Amino acid sequence: MDFRLTEEELEMQELAREFARNEIKPRVRDLEEAGTFPRDLYTRMGEVGFFGIPFPAEYGGLEGSFVGLVAVIEEIGKVWQPLTGAFNLQGMTVPFTILNWGTEQQRASYVEKLIRCELLGYMALTEPGGGSDALGSMETRATRVDGGWRLRGSKMFITNANVADVGLVYAKTDPEAGARGVTGFIVHTSAEGFDAQPIPTRGIGENMPTNALYLDDVFVPDEDVLGGEEGVGNGFKYAMNGLDYGRLTIPARAVSVAQASLELMIDYAKERVVFGQQIGRFQMIQHLIADSVAEIEAARLLTYQSAFAKDQGQPSTRLSSISKYFAGEVAVKVAQRATETFGGYSLTSELPIERNMSWATLYHAGEGTANIQRVLIAEDALAFRNLDRPVPTPRYVEERAS
Ligand SMILES: Cc1cc2nc3c(=O)[nH]c(=O)nc-3n(C[C@H](O)[C@H](O)[C@H](O)COP(=O)(O)OP(=O)(O)OC[C@H]3O[C@@H](n4cnc5c(N)ncnc54)[C@H](O)[C@@H]3O)c2cc1C
Repeated sequence: MDFRLTEEELEMQELAREFARNEIKPRVRDLEEAGTFPRDLYTRMGEVGFFGIPFPAEYGGLEGSFVGLVAVIEEIGKVWQPLTGAFNLQGMTVPFTILNWGTEQQRASYVEKLIRCELLGYMALTEPGGGSDALGSMETRATRVDGGWRLRGSKMFITNANVADVGLVYAKTDPEAGARGVTGFIVHTSAEGFDAQPIPTRGIGENMPTNALYLDDVFVPDEDVLGGEEGVGNGFKYAMNGLDYGRLTIPARAVSVAQASLELMIDYAKERVVFGQQIGRFQMIQHLIADSVAEIEAARLLTYQSAFAKDQGQPSTRLSSISKYFAGEVAVKVAQRATETFGGYSLTSELPIERNMSWATLYHAGEGTANIQRVLIAEDALAFRNLDRPVPTPRYVEERAS
């Protein structure tokens, strides 16, 4: 394996580093104090092309690599976590799912606009009954009516739904049919009966809002059924495939927040003097730093390995699970060590120590909790399931190949 980034990937990484330094960092304090959604930064990042890195040029993408994308996420995340959510919604779980499984018309209408942030996206799968059992807990129903469908139900923890324009909602269209009874719908937030209510979240807040979503007989025309008539009953497959892409970005986000915590620890360990010496001279503080350095490096390698496998067209679901699980654990452990290093000062709101812990917790839990990843990894090891079994070829790939 070649561990070097290509020239193109290095250029993209440098561009992201400069963008974060010049356009994000100077605004962090004001945005956090105001608690506002940074729509203009989404727009700028869309213009620069960050979300479109691995997308085909025919939809406005840069035809770059997933490895390059991961390198960019890390640079942005080290400076400000709230913007990293955009990589899932504007880059992976919404536009990639539409690219892979949408009709030609849906691809043309939404993919480029999403990656350029002319439209902001959301993805609504989780329900109040429990995110880990997304299928079993799904009570949202869609009923066929003249010219389309009516959606009724509620969703939980839906990022950006209150500020977005359009997104994907998964609902049961045939409750008796299990995984084959779910359909994906492209739902505009302006639709009558659509209501998104922000939920207060500790440490994450309105810079990346998450919402309870209420769907009160929302009408969706037939043309907005994800994948058209062929998509009816295939929504769960589409959602799981979309999450497979999302699981590529979560470990990169986790590595970035762990790295940010580590850098704060290192600076403070050199600056803080107690008992007449820098606390970084104490072995117990050095242990915290050494363990963090080693674990972050391992998490980063796993993250890049999983992106590299996707770039090579190799099966990557097992690696995505492993890297998501491992990087989420590392992010939480490093955030905890940063808390210990800063002592009482970790609780001051001036420093992002507590906030980093909240982001780490999100990466530990979101898009398949650490326990769920453990279940998957163990069942694969025990040969009870095969995570890297051949997946259905996306419709887009099939169409372009024929
Ligand atoms: C800030 C934020 C943003 C989010 N954004 C989105 C979004 O945009 N769209 C979306 O659809 N969802 C979103 N989510 C939801 C997220 O994906 C879920 O929180 C996650 O899937 C876990 O579901 P849950 O919180 O309902 O936990 P639960 O499923 O209730 O699990 C609770 C605990 O039980 C454990 N557990 C459950 N089943 C098992 C098992 N079989 N074996 C062992 N342990 C188990 C879990 O690991 C966890 O520790 C978001 C969540 C947060 C916090």
